[in-house]
Amino acid sequence: QAKENGRNGFFFYERSLTDSLYSRMTLEQDLRHALEQRQFTMVYQPQFRLGEARPRRVEALMRWHHPRRGNISPLEFIAIAETTGMIIEIGEWAMETACRQFLTWRQQNVRLDKIAINVSAIQINSGFADRVLLLLKELDFDPRSLELEITETAMMSGIIEVNRQINQLRAHGVEFSIDDFGTGYSSLSKIKSMPVSLLKIDQSFVRDINDDINDYEIARAVILMAKSLGLTVVAEGVENQAQESTLQRLGCDWVQGYLYGMPLTGEAFVETYRQS
Ligand code: C2E
Ligand code: MG
Ligand code: MG
Ligand code: MG
Repeated sequence: QAKENGRNGFFFYERSLTDSLYSRMTLEQDLRHALEQRQFTMVYQPQFRLGEARPRRVEALMRWHHPRRGNISPLEFIAIAETTGMIIEIGEWAMETACRQFLTWRQQNVRLDKIAINVSAIQINSGFADRVLLLLKELDFDPRSLELEITETAMMSGIIEVNRQINQLRAHGVEFSIDDFGTGYSSLSKIKSMPVSLLKIDQSFVRDINDDINDYEIARAVILMAKSLGLTVVAEGVENQAQESTLQRLGCDWVQGYLYGMPLTGEAFVETYRQS
């Protein structure tokens, strides 16, 4: 009997080892073909001015449906795409797809001010701004309708080139936001040197904003500092009314989260938010 368990234990171990090897090696290989095999899609989550019923903006989020493993989290595949450099190509696909969707919505009576797209630091090399501007021109897309989200860590990489590229796009009206703010190691005072106009408080602070005094104090300090510097504050991951009330009291301007709307396909977004 014990021997039987031992064997099962062994097989279990072997199975999980195989799984992790699959992740490390095969997933990277599979990612190389995912683009041409059309396994990526974009979904869209609405953003609201706090208190308003109609969304004004939307964030585009990538999805990878793997033929054998099913949906793989962007937290997993974006990291692989970044270390292999594939993010350049995949990121361009994401931007073009999202911008085209935004233009299609216009014709379907879905009126939004802006679409926000996530960008990795690795994408922001010396040709980045020119490539984005060329795409926008080809699509006849108003740069003022585009927002690019960059994580705090990427923004703080200290690479002068990143700031140069951002400023070139800002001069054309593209707006920039710092994503996942509070998870990096930059001090609050660094905010004023970042070439952005929006700041997204990371959802890890929103989650327990009413239960964890530290999270509450961080959110409070971030909102206070951001607002005194003239930045707009967006809270992500808002899931319940209690979180919303606290954020409202602290002066947060914009909200996004399951309380208001899940990420939806482009078609489902039309069904939900089309104006009569
Ligand atoms: P993010 O940009 O901070 O996006 C917010 C994440 O929170 C999304 O996860 C979204 O689905 C999720 N979320 C939204 N509302 C709620 C809520 O109320 N509760 C909770 N618990 N979660 C909520 P997702 O789609 O899995 O994306 C994860 C991360 O992957 C993104 O974080 C972003 O950093 C990255 N990512 C996604 N799409 C792209 C892309 O096209 N390009 C790049 N470079 N990164 C992307
Ligand atoms: Mg984001
Ligand atoms: Mg975020
Ligand atoms: Mg995040």
